[in-house]
Amino acid sequence: MQIEKYSMGIGDRFAHQGKAQLQAMIQAQAAGATVAPVWNKSHREHTIIHTAPASVRAEADAAVKALGWKEAYHVDADHIGLKNVDLFLDASDFFTLDVADFTGQAAGEDDIRAFVEKYSKYAGELAVPGIDETFHVTKNRIEDIAAKYLLAVREAGKIYRHVEGKKGKGNFITEVSMDETDNPQTPEEMFFILAAVADEGIPAQTIAPKFTGRFNKGVDYVGDVAQFAKEFQQDIAVIAFAIREFGLPANLKLSVHSGSDKFSIYGPIREAIRKFGAGLHLKTAGTTWLEELIGLAEAGGQGLAIAKDVYAAALGRFDELCGPYATVIDIDRNKLPSAEIVAGWGGQDYAAALRHDQACDAYNPNFRQLLHVGYKVAAEMGERYLDALKEFEEVIAKNVTENILERHLKRIFL
Ligand SMILES: [Zn+2]
Repeated sequence: MQIEKYSMGIGDRFAHQGKAQLQAMIQAQAAGATVAPVWNKSHREHTIIHTAPASVRAEADAAVKALGWKEAYHVDADHIGLKNVDLFLDASDFFTLDVADFTGQAAGEDDIRAFVEKYSKYAGELAVPGIDETFHVTKNRIEDIAAKYLLAVREAGKIYRHVEGKKGKGNFITEVSMDETDNPQTPEEMFFILAAVADEGIPAQTIAPKFTGRFNKGVDYVGDVAQFAKEFQQDIAVIAFAIREFGLPANLKLSVHSGSDKFSIYGPIREAIRKFGAGLHLKTAGTTWLEELIGLAEAGGQGLAIAKDVYAAALGRFDELCGPYATVIDIDRNKLPSAEIVAGWGGQDYAAALRHDQACDAYNPNFRQLLHVGYKVAAEMGERYLDALKEFEEVIAKNVTENILERHLKRIFL
């Protein structure tokens, strides 16, 4: 099983928007870009919402059937490790092996020494086709990289072999993710990480490094766009080189996690994948749920009441809700409107504050981020929330499709 050149990870916390999401892919295809949808939901999301991976498979299959999608689609076991991978085996055909917790833990000395010996042929001035400058690589540098990442890649190998043992070789797509680490990986580090991935026999088709800059959930990129653009191109060149040097799958491509809403880097990403003819997996941050809130607010009546209740409750439980996401959100509490102010808003006021339209003065990224992590509140509403999704399906679906198509697919792939 091979991942298509272009793919997009679409989360759907409450599993009601599969069709609206797929509709965006259908419209993108009609406009000239085929992007494979990959429904992803992490163990963390399943735990908070009390759902099981089978529900994601059911949703994906139903949406594909209902809309007659003839292209590929996948179901991603997002950020899994040995502790929870078994829950995802039946439902998923895409496995994101998360080894972030193991980066920085040193492998055994013999392991490191053997790795350095094997790859010391790259010491010196390392020239990578497609990159103007050379990387100055020393044996010490290779040793540092091995000490930092070798154990993590070994761990990925254990998870990979476990999945392979259950599903059979070639029957699923493998991604290796390191994005939830403290420090970004440089293109040079990525080269040696890919060497280790090949040594482990992991047929990775996508790799998700941590890029330079901040990738907060649901909001724009914060960082040095020029530096990002340079490293992103270098990463693509390094991957192409590593495929040849280490015999990795020919379709190995970058995966950008928390990739939704990073509007200021979409230009450089678009340019880079065109320049190198590279593929891309863009994994979004579960922001479809925010489009549900926007749709509910626009619907007015009970819909707006629910949207306001979610905000009021989220504000009151700020620390609890933000805690698990502390490293991937930046909320200025002083810029959050009070529950009383929001109670007086009309549906359009709520929608304008939440919708990610940077040209709109009313857009409030603090409000947006708090609601983004507030899905637990909606989950606790149970039937009240789910019934509203059905009742106001039309206005919600319009927002879900438009967000994926206009603000994402069109800006990168078309
Ligand atoms: Zn991630």
